[in-house]
Amino acid sequence: MSVHRTKYAAVVCGGGPAGITVLGNLLERKVGPVLWVDDLFEAGRVNKAYREVPSNTKVKLFVDFAEAVSPFQKILKETPSPHAVDYLRGLPQDTGCDLGYAADMCLLLTEGLKKAPGVEARQGRVTDAVLSETNDWVVNVKLSSGETSKAISSRVILCTGSSPTNQQLPVSISDLSPLELDHALSPTLLAKSLPKESTTVAVIGASHSAVLVLINLYNLASTTHPDLKIKWFTRHPLRYAEFMEGWIKRDNTGLKGAAAAWAKENLEPAKFDSSPVSRFIKKIAYEKENETQTYEQELAGCNRYVQAIGYTRDPLPGLKDAAGSDITYNYQPDTGSFKNLDGRQIPGLFGAGIAWPERVTDPEGSVEWAVGFWKFMRYAKRVVPDWN
Ligand SMILES: Cc1cc2nc3c(=O)[nH]c(=O)nc-3n(C[C@H](O)[C@H](O)[C@H](O)COP(=O)(O)OP(=O)(O)OC[C@H]3O[C@@H](n4cnc5c(N)ncnc54)[C@H](O)[C@@H]3O)c2cc1C
Repeated sequence: MSVHRTKYAAVVCGGGPAGITVLGNLLERKVGPVLWVDDLFEAGRVNKAYREVPSNTKVKLFVDFAEAVSPFQKILKETPSPHAVDYLRGLPQDTGCDLGYAADMCLLLTEGLKKAPGVEARQGRVTDAVLSETNDWVVNVKLSSGETSKAISSRVILCTGSSPTNQQLPVSISDLSPLELDHALSPTLLAKSLPKESTTVAVIGASHSAVLVLINLYNLASTTHPDLKIKWFTRHPLRYAEFMEGWIKRDNTGLKGAAAAWAKENLEPAKFDSSPVSRFIKKIAYEKENETQTYEQELAGCNRYVQAIGYTRDPLPGLKDAAGSDITYNYQPDTGSFKNLDGRQIPGLFGAGIAWPERVTDPEGSVEWAVGFWKFMRYAKRVVPDWN
């Protein structure tokens, strides 16, 4: 085991868009030195799984993100052109783009941040963090080399991400196997995952991801996989983001961009029967109370099923107090901080990103979680100055 002699101002746990955002904001505020830990430093899930996904945000917001703090601006200035942000700048700004462009921007920022003064990047996994009696965190990292290392820090910032939610089906259907949502979101992997022979895929959900999967499956069925059939299980009508005066209704939960346009054109009840998609997609609308019965009837005969029903926080490092007991925590979605269950602030523990987003309330009083690159940046700019 190696022990770092330096006492860090912060350990940033995670190198996805949220970790990049937080690190940029800490450096901007001259908080350092910072230990930055990630399994791969390859920009998290946007690069690993969503490169082929059309963005639900405008290109301009990715450019704004890349220029939002001075450490990022310095990296862009020092990177020879043309680079990933130049490519983003060259696209139409008011529409979406493949998330591969945003992933490349994150990779560019990652390379720059790893070399930035005041940053020590360690490839590996934060396994646990222990809060000492003096309110310092003792952080254990399992390095990718297999070694372990220990660091002491005033702050631990969790940017640990979320992965697709998988729920046990309430029924058991023979010969029905799961299809990973990450694979179904990638046209390339999806084509490789499905045989050309007669196959029926069940898509469960009416989320943004569910519509993207339906688009990918329809594109296969109408071209290379003509014997592919799709059953779409949905419990509610599709919900769209609506552009109001000065704000967006269902900004975080409604369909947007290419997925919204395709759904309006093909999946809405008034369009579905006359749309070419109905040759391949059968819609199964049902109520929660009838779920088991519906699954029993309609999943029979399906070969694969994909659940597009949301995202769940990835496992956290173990968090313990000086006595070795687990720290129980409640996330504070207005400040990015954590309290323990009796309401006391946990010193130096913070979170950001898809796992720890800002809670926002729209002018009509609806509450949502603000998830997206620019939203992470806006939140970090507001709360990081108070992360003391
Ligand atoms: C299908 C889909 C489409 C999206 N489209 C858009 C879009 O168009 N525009 C937009 O702005 N946003 C979009 N988002 C939202 C959001 O930007 C992404 O989900 C983004 O990947 C979240 O970043 P993150 O850093 O919070 O998490 P992640 O990308 O999951 O990154 C977490 C990182 O932390 C690391 N990590 C976790 N635990 C540890 C540990 N213990 N030690 C060390 N490292 C650890 C992981 O290895 C990973 O690298 C989309 C999300 C989804 C799911």
